[in-house]
Amino acid sequence: MTAAGVEWGCQTTNNPATAIQLNVKTLLRHVQDLVGFVVKSVRHTLGAPDPRIDVDLDIDPRRKRRCSCCGRPGRVHDILPQRQWHFVPLWNIPVFLHYAPRRVVCQRFGKPVVEAMPWNRGKSPYAAAYMVFLARWAGRLSWKETAEIFSASWEAVRRSVEWVVAWGLEHRDLSGVTAVGVDDLHHGRGKTSLNFLTLVYQIDRGSRRLLWIGRARTEATLREGFDELEKLRAGFLGGLRVVCSDMWKPFLKVVRERCGQALNVLDPFHVAKHLNEALDTVRRGEQSRLKDKAARKEAKGGRFLLLTRGTKVRGKARAKLKAVLASLGRTSRAWELKESFRRFWLYRSPAWASAYLRAWTTRAMRSKIEPMKKVARMLRAHEDLLLNYFRAKRQYTNAMVEGMNHKARVALARSFGHRSFDVLKLVLYHNLGDLPEPPSSHKFC
Ligand SMILES: [Zn+2]
Repeated sequence: MTAAGVEWGCQTTNNPATAIQLNVKTLLRHVQDLVGFVVKSVRHTLGAPDPRIDVDLDIDPRRKRRCSCCGRPGRVHDILPQRQWHFVPLWNIPVFLHYAPRRVVCQRFGKPVVEAMPWNRGKSPYAAAYMVFLARWAGRLSWKETAEIFSASWEAVRRSVEWVVAWGLEHRDLSGVTAVGVDDLHHGRGKTSLNFLTLVYQIDRGSRRLLWIGRARTEATLREGFDELEKLRAGFLGGLRVVCSDMWKPFLKVVRERCGQALNVLDPFHVAKHLNEALDTVRRGEQSRLKDKAARKEAKGGRFLLLTRGTKVRGKARAKLKAVLASLGRTSRAWELKESFRRFWLYRSPAWASAYLRAWTTRAMRSKIEPMKKVARMLRAHEDLLLNYFRAKRQYTNAMVEGMNHKARVALARSFGHRSFDVLKLVLYHNLGDLPEPPSSHKFC
């Protein structure tokens, strides 16, 4: 390694009178708080196949050493072996800090404790600024890409995100949450309980974020989530006015049990999903009974059009939809039921909505189409919860959560290959948690 010192630099202007030498030392002091320390030397191996910049730090003799646990000055007890920290690369050249930490006698505990170093976090071999840097990029790219682009290890990216997320979770503000949405998210291939995650979102106007993630989607999962949030902020559950969910029984039960004072709003999106699933079952059944191969193909091709909101199907697609509906009698009636249910959500008064719901379910029950009858029975059983949507002035739906769920799926797809729950959890909190970031004197990216 050549000890070239800090003499390589540049001038900010061609005028020698105002020329300022810019060197690594100045740059480093600009981007990193180094109070209490001095830059002893900057070494580089720029000619080598693996160029790097090494910065040796030393104590500032004018300042007292401070304890990392209480921040108070303390007498130096001993000097630990030299440590190395990855720092933010400079023009894609890796940068390392070197320093031998002192241990000081803590005034509070009377024991030797490692001194405070503004760039250091615990035993991490990465400087705090570097971890924030990697974590920020890991929120935009996949972890793998982040690691490749910045010649870091995948593990460095994981640990960086882990630290930034932990910091954010510890420092987030859970006050003023009045509306949450509870939803599940499928991941992986199977359909077992462990292939689902339970997510709790805040859905207040202007403040939408992921609050909690748990494995599976059972009563126990949601109970654990609610308990954890309540533990983090006393009165959290009591402060909820609205909880938005689908008709998943375990969730309904826990919501009733833990936040009975809140209106449990059943989400229109999920009701639409049930209707669409029923319609698709009808279409599949009818289509398989078609003798003509071409007609069968046409019916299959119409699947997407059938599931799309009717008013959004226009032009040529509309003609195609009409042809499909004309060829499939039962599907056509099921489609009409699905479409007409949209009117339910347009009412303002719970009483009128209730009247419409009864009329609709009666029609569905008389349709002799079993999948639609099943939905009708389910909606009837949940009538009171369905009407909560109108009692909550139609303000809350999980639509915003569905947007979040879409983002979650994108984030999960980017983290392909790493299916462990811990990694999924980190990815989701990192991307959807709207977490505060550790403060830093410089924004690197
Ligand atoms: Zn202390």
